[in-house]
Amino acid sequence: MPIHQFKRTKIIATIGPASNSYETILGIIKAGANGIRLNFSHGTYEERIQQIKWIRKASEEYGKPIAIIQDLQGPKIRLGDFEGMIKVSTHQELLFRYKADYERSGEIPLQYDLSKKVKRGHHMYLFDGRIKTIITAVHANGLIQAKAENSGILIKRKGINLPDTDFGGDIITPKDSKDIAFGSNQDIDYVALSFVQAGRDVEKLKQKLSALGSKARVIAKIETKAGVNNIDEIFQEADVVMVARGDLAIETTPESVPIMQRKIIGLGLHYKKPTIVATQMLASMTETPEPTRAEVSDVATAVIVGADCVMLSDETANGKYPVEAVKVMKRVVLYTQENSDVKAMFTGIPKDKGRQFAISKAVIDLAKSVEATAIVAETKSGATAVNIASQRPDSPIIAVTSDKIVTNHLAIVYGVKSYLRPVDKFAATKLTNWLLKMKVLKKDDVIVTASGTYPGVVGTTDTIKVRVL
Ligand code: PGA
Ligand code: MN
Repeated sequence: MPIHQFKRTKIIATIGPASNSYETILGIIKAGANGIRLNFSHGTYEERIQQIKWIRKASEEYGKPIAIIQDLQGPKIRLGDFEGMIKVSTHQELLFRYKADYERSGEIPLQYDLSKKVKRGHHMYLFDGRIKTIITAVHANGLIQAKAENSGILIKRKGINLPDTDFGGDIITPKDSKDIAFGSNQDIDYVALSFVQAGRDVEKLKQKLSALGSKARVIAKIETKAGVNNIDEIFQEADVVMVARGDLAIETTPESVPIMQRKIIGLGLHYKKPTIVATQMLASMTETPEPTRAEVSDVATAVIVGADCVMLSDETANGKYPVEAVKVMKRVVLYTQENSDVKAMFTGIPKDKGRQFAISKAVIDLAKSVEATAIVAETKSGATAVNIASQRPDSPIIAVTSDKIVTNHLAIVYGVKSYLRPVDKFAATKLTNWLLKMKVLKKDDVIVTASGTYPGVVGTTDTIKVRVL
């Protein structure tokens, strides 16, 4: 495929029962997925090991790096088990207790002992926000009393959201810790942390990963009120930030999410950290082969405001049209990028501009004036490529790195095509010659390269060249 046809905004697809085979995973990757998300709220380790093997095989076979994302469940609190459904009326007083037996005591069971975390006056949203309650009392024996603000029904195991509750830095559950240890022995590239409330939550996960010898980077999922309030410190700690719109809409308000999405993407450019827009992007495609107009518009908007990635969840994990959903998303991305500039909420000019910013800007300006087909960046950690990408150039960025995991990390970065090559003074030239042979580039194409005097050393980019192939 000629380089100018690469999509700049990347696609992440979630694997689940609807896509749990080598053929479907290969189909999803061929259709345009750059990252695969494994949702650790479901599934067994055996399934994960198999899926990771399939993803790596498909990536190899199709010749494109794929970022594998381990998405941790986090403190997703759920109702426990009970028979049938519980009818709730407005102003009704409800009783909750960890592992209660509803049939015997009339107390609604919880899967997590909330009594240590919640306080009187906190909101507690049940069944994914369908029933809103306010906590009226928390007893020392673990009993929680709450008053319903509206009527409805409750079904066993449905999700609970606590928008006012501070977890005090304790958001990594025992299940998450087990999953992190498992993931550290697997070939994964990113770990996504759910329900992040503060920068220290991300820091804690990073410490755990480095203690386990994992090179996985961290994606902070913004889906709580505290996460929104602490967005700047979270950006400083995280490697990537996800707008997790499902829970975010419940914990804040649905109408605040589009603005927050724009702000987070803008901050991504400002902090030079990739961003992901997630949840319900093509939701109707779980059932029908065509998306709604509103969904197409949602994907296009994410592209226009400058997101690095758009993500599919249920569409590819549980839907009837997993491969088609990726194809539709790719079509929308390509059309939008060809017909609109990125219009981010911030300029992308960081407060602390620094030398790296100046070099990236010079590379982009030069590429524009010589009408370059591509920018070629030699990068050890991926930072040079991310720096250039965060100024959202029109030209594709070809990144050359000697570190396998970095090619995977860069798979979900805006505008970047990454290639693995050994450390070599001529790695960029050898790569572009090879791309010429592979017909990705063609004779007379102009490229601008950014490289360093000491290839393979982080932060030494100091040389810019123009080359005519
Ligand atoms: P989830 O996160 O799918 O893991 O809940 C995304 C979201 O809440 O939107
Ligand atoms: Mn969520």
